Amino acid sequence: MKFSTIKALICDMDGVLWRGEQALPGLLALFAWLTERQIPYILATNNSGTTPEEYVAKLARLGVDGVTPDHIVTSAIATADYMRARYPAGTRVYLIGMNGIREALIDSGFDLDDDPTERAQVVVCGIDFDLTYQKLKRATIHLRYGADFIGTNADRTFPHADGIIPGAGSLLAALQTASDRAPTIIGKPYPAMFEAALARLGTTATQTLMIGDRLDTDIQGAQALGIATALVFTGVTQPSDMISSQAWADVAYEDLASLVRAWAGDEWYRAQIKAQRG
Ligand SMILES: [Mg+2]
Repeated sequence: MKFSTIKALICDMDGVLWRGEQALPGLLALFAWLTERQIPYILATNNSGTTPEEYVAKLARLGVDGVTPDHIVTSAIATADYMRARYPAGTRVYLIGMNGIREALIDSGFDLDDDPTERAQVVVCGIDFDLTYQKLKRATIHLRYGADFIGTNADRTFPHADGIIPGAGSLLAALQTASDRAPTIIGKPYPAMFEAALARLGTTATQTLMIGDRLDTDIQGAQALGIATALVFTGVTQPSDMISSQAWADVAYEDLASLVRAWAGDEWYRAQIKAQRG
C-alpha cells in the first residue's frame, strides 16, 4: 500500500480517534492533514445508538471543528441507506433500537408505528438499552409471519464503564433463537457498511484507505472489498495478535500520530505540531 494512491479515507472512531472521552495522539493532526489536502473522509462506527450530530459534538469537544453529520456513517445510517435502496418509503418496520437508528429510519420515510393489528414488512434490530420481553415478543411474531430481518451490527459485546456489556449481536441472538431466522447484518465486517461509505465518498475501493483498531471487523471487512487497510494499536488489536492471526493489515502503526506522520511526511508533521503548540 502506497499513501500516494489514497484519494479518500474511511476511519473508525472508538480506539482510533479517542478512547472514552480522551482524544488519542494524532487526532488534530489527522483532521489538519485531511483538510489541507481536501481528502474526502467518512467516520464509520458500528454503534447504531448515537446520531451523527452527537458524534460531531463529541469531536468538537475534543477540539476538532469542521466535521459535519455528512461525514459520519453509523451502522444506523448504513442500515437506512441499505433499506432505501430496497424498500419504498412508508414500508412498515418494527424497530428494536435507540435514537440513532430511530432517527435514520424516520428521516428515510419508513413507518415505525407499532400497530398490533398490522404485520411489519421488516424487523430492524440494533442496540437498545431499554430492551424488554415485550419488544422481543413483538419482533419474533413479525419474523415468524415472514418479515425481513436486518441487524445493524453483530458486535456481541462492547466495553462500558461498568464492564463488558451486551451489544446488538446479543439481542440478535435472542431473536434468532426465538424466530429460527438469521439476520442480514449491515455493520463492519459485513460489506453494506463499507459500500455505504464508498458510495458517499465516490471513490473506488483501491483508492480508499480504511483505518481501524480491530483486525476482525475494520480491517478484514475492508480487505474483503479490496479497500487498503491501516491498523493502529490504540484499541482492541495488539501487536501480539499478529502471532496467532492469519490476516494482517497492509500497514500497521503504534497510533494515529505515527500513521499521519508516515502519510504526510516528517516535515509536514513537525510543522503541524509546532503550529498546534502555538
Ligand atoms: Mg474501533
